[in-house]
Amino acid sequence: MTDPRRRLPSVDALLKTPAVVRLLETQPRNLVVAAVRDALAAARSGQASEPFDWDGEISERVASRAASSLSPVLNATGVVLHTNLGRAPLAAAALDAVVAIGRGYSNLELDVATGARGSRLDHCAAVLAEITGAETGFAVNNAAGALVLALNGLAAGREVVISRGELIEIGGSFRIPDILVKSGAELREVGTTNRTHLADYERALSDRTGAILVVHRSNFSMAGFVSSPPVAELGRLAAARGVPLIHDVGSGLLVDLADFGLQGEPLVPAATATADLVIFSGDKLLGGPQAGCIVGRRRWVAPLTRNPFARALRTDKLTLAALEATLALYRDRATALRDIPVLRMLTTDEATLRQRAERLAAGLPSGAADLQPGSSAVGGGSFPDAALPTTVVAVDPGPRGAAALALTLRLGTPAILTRVESGRVILDPRTLDPAEIDLVAGAVTAALRAE
Ligand SMILES: *Cc1c(COP(=O)(O)O)cnc(C)c1O
Repeated sequence: MTDPRRRLPSVDALLKTPAVVRLLETQPRNLVVAAVRDALAAARSGQASEPFDWDGEISERVASRAASSLSPVLNATGVVLHTNLGRAPLAAAALDAVVAIGRGYSNLELDVATGARGSRLDHCAAVLAEITGAETGFAVNNAAGALVLALNGLAAGREVVISRGELIEIGGSFRIPDILVKSGAELREVGTTNRTHLADYERALSDRTGAILVVHRSNFSMAGFVSSPPVAELGRLAAARGVPLIHDVGSGLLVDLADFGLQGEPLVPAATATADLVIFSGDKLLGGPQAGCIVGRRRWVAPLTRNPFARALRTDKLTLAALEATLALYRDRATALRDIPVLRMLTTDEATLRQRAERLAAGLPSGAADLQPGSSAVGGGSFPDAALPTTVVAVDPGPRGAAALALTLRLGTPAILTRVESGRVILDPRTLDPAEIDLVAGAVTAALRAE
């Protein structure tokens, strides 16, 4: 019996074949050697079929190793804040700031007036205060980190009073009770899952209390026999007892979107008026880079900047550049709604979405798709009950079926993410840039023709 594995060439022999020699003229040697080893390993394990196409195998493996792992995708799902797709796309002004700061040196930790060392935490302080109405603020790596920092700084070794109805899981193993304990604080739960009253908080406060914590139930809503005291009442109680009130609002909503049918998320400026510390994400409704903002009264914020967790969770200069530039857009409401992609997508009117859906459908083979009324989702654990009316393009996938067409689109370059519903591939123009519509139409057409 002949064992094909015995006949495998050596690495050196493969590196001398004309096709591989040509690859070596344009590609780094280490990359080509790694690709040759990959190809040999595949042949040895019997995964590849005989006769083995060495040239093809090696050049494919060079290409796949050379491609970036992190790459852009087109979002046709209609989910605006899609955590798997990187949440908020950045505004042009934020991208410009990233390039300006990233390509050279900056005053990241320098006070240029004195030449002395400065703090990176100061860069967003002024604009955070201006936009949120808080006395001061700073940003760390993300909101989960900001919460750990705040709890550790204000309540390590002491009790944190929180309603049982707010002991929630945000996702990705981020559970409020676990975070609280990891931060060094003790959990003091009050009330019940559905109802917590001011008197419950009052009874729980003692000289062991480090803070009262209110967490926005971001990703779900409770209806029926439910109640919790207004945060303003908790603020008065906290002030009377001299303990800080921390409000984790989650999404970082800075402009009221009620005119667009979006209600129920706490507005940051309203939260800063009632709580001592307000915590929110940079890359949810705020529409900026991944970050966790902490704003509030100087008395409670200032000690946090000196906490070791502030160093452990510090933000990169590129994040600070993008965050400051995004926040600056909020100085004018109309500018924010137009220039911040998340807000623009959430507030695009139905007629515009319909036109885009028509243009997308017109670029597909005739009869392959029709327009349907649909709904987009905000995503990212924000406005969980909102269904934003839109017009979707429902594509008939042909005999291969919807899952196969969706897979082909995901594996394309760029990858296109869609929804599959009732045997159709659904394309929602809300989360596509107008400039991406023709690209998507072309890719779907090519995928349908390749059947
Ligand atoms: C999303 C969310 C967080 C976590 O924010 P990240 O920036 O993703 O770490 C924390 N709290 C609430 C209420 C949230 O909605």
